[in-house]
Amino acid sequence: MDTDVLVVGSGIAGLFFSLKIPDKYRVTVITKKGSNDTSTNFAQGGIAAVFGKDDSFKLHIQDTMRVGQGLSNRQRVELMVREAPRLVNELHDLGVEFSLDENGNYDLGREAAHSRRRIVHAKDLTGEVIERTLIARVLESKNIEIVEDRVALDLGTLNNRCFGIWTFNSSSSAVEFISAKVILLATGGAGQIYLHTTNPTVSTGDGIAMAKRCGIKVANMEFIQFHPTSLWVEHPLERAFLISEAVRGEGGVLTLKNGKPFMEKYHQLGSLAPRDVVARAIARELKETCDKYVYLDLSRISARRIKERFPNIHNTCLSHGIDITKEPIPCVPAAHYLCGGIVVDENGFTGVNGLYATGETSCVGIHGANRLASNSLLESVVFSERAAYYSVSNISKERYRPVNYTAGEETMPSEKIELMKHGIRKLMWDKLGVMRKVDEMKNAERETNSLAKKISLLEKEATPNTDFSNLRNMILVARLIISCALQRRESRGLHWVEDYPYKDPNYEKDTIDN
Ligand SMILES: Cc1cc2nc3c(=O)[nH]c(=O)nc-3n(C[C@H](O)[C@H](O)[C@H](O)COP(=O)(O)OP(=O)(O)OC[C@H]3O[C@@H](n4cnc5c(N)ncnc54)[C@H](O)[C@@H]3O)c2cc1C
Repeated sequence: MDTDVLVVGSGIAGLFFSLKIPDKYRVTVITKKGSNDTSTNFAQGGIAAVFGKDDSFKLHIQDTMRVGQGLSNRQRVELMVREAPRLVNELHDLGVEFSLDENGNYDLGREAAHSRRRIVHAKDLTGEVIERTLIARVLESKNIEIVEDRVALDLGTLNNRCFGIWTFNSSSSAVEFISAKVILLATGGAGQIYLHTTNPTVSTGDGIAMAKRCGIKVANMEFIQFHPTSLWVEHPLERAFLISEAVRGEGGVLTLKNGKPFMEKYHQLGSLAPRDVVARAIARELKETCDKYVYLDLSRISARRIKERFPNIHNTCLSHGIDITKEPIPCVPAAHYLCGGIVVDENGFTGVNGLYATGETSCVGIHGANRLASNSLLESVVFSERAAYYSVSNISKERYRPVNYTAGEETMPSEKIELMKHGIRKLMWDKLGVMRKVDEMKNAERETNSLAKKISLLEKEATPNTDFSNLRNMILVARLIISCALQRRESRGLHWVEDYPYKDPNYEKDTIDN
């Protein structure tokens, strides 16, 4: 298959990028499952932008930099914050129905570590509304097509240029090369590497693994954001249900099972402290009390406001037998967002000609050691637009078609794959979670190194398919997380190591995996 522009991923980054490509170019978007099987589709809180009368670019920049703990790139943060209102208005013009207040202005929500109300949202279904709208606009565009159930396996590169992607076609079970002049990796995060995660099953870090296999730089993989509040259920779900921070923004308070609030002990902002502080506080309290969950008490929010502002959370909790207008929500932390990823410049360029990366799979320098809530949808639109404009202005006519994809012919039993996947997810949850210890991380390193050896032997025998590809990517991404985590001998932002409980100025720099 030939196309001009090949986009891997149908979340906000891939779709917004596609819509920004001039329509004289053919754009093909491939996606691992259905079009809306994305993290984007599950985003609840919203997208951050300065619209409030008491707000300013300076404050949004300050909040982002403070949370990033010395590792955010100021110039790029400034660029993103200044572009935010224009691009949020553009999403609105594309048809995204954001919630409005009684005066017809955006109803601005408040989230942790934001000093002002600046979260533009569509009730608590912001991601779903954005995803639905962008898919609709893409389907109307004559030059863009979406190909579902098509898995990107590996990049086709030669002499520092990317010429396309090897893909697995789930309907024909064939490996096919798609050749293109511009390739965008917009494959999202890697939450599925952890046992408890808010990410959908497609989030196995594939773009990062593909890039790494081609020697492209990957950075800051140790900074995994654990969302403090996912719904606790007796048997962990494939994807944990998120209780948005906006609930705490509206007045929800974290308490122990006995009803006692505990966050004031840890931070002056109490339940609205930055996510890493809240996640660690919950982990500590759970360790001390041996409870399985803490509570989020919504009794200060009226039942009417709960139903109007959080219809999705209200209904989902009801389906688990919890009426949040009357009782508290049992919560635990879950892996949520990857701050690190493929190193790119402010145009999403990876350094390999023709190859770009945007959205959660990329590391453009916004989040540093921690992500400010609702900055990731924003980052995706700002840098995807830039990448689209830059990539077509540097388009090359060169084509190259590799002949063979190296693989074997054995089918690896799916039970064996599932078992190995579960092993990695549990290992990462236990040893590279909210609180880390050097000896445990070293154990995890040994275990994943031996898994990597096994998989490289199997690779020569196994036929490529979606499950196998997920597994080998998960092992590689887990190793990248461990390697970056072991390099950073301090605690900063999301990376908390009990052996080094302080920040060390020598580590005020990105961790590049080597
Ligand atoms: C529950 C939840 C709530 C969130 N709430 C917010 C919020 O309120 N505000 C905010 O700013 N951020 C939020 N986030 C984070 C934000 O949603 C994501 O960072 C953002 O949507 C990522 O967009 P993306 O386009 O990079 O990736 P995604 O939306 O995850 O899309 C990735 C795409 O890549 C495809 N893909 C992956 N691998 C392959 C492959 N090998 N071959 C083909 N296709 C592939 C997937 O199928 C998918 O289509 C939330 C995240 C979650 C999980």
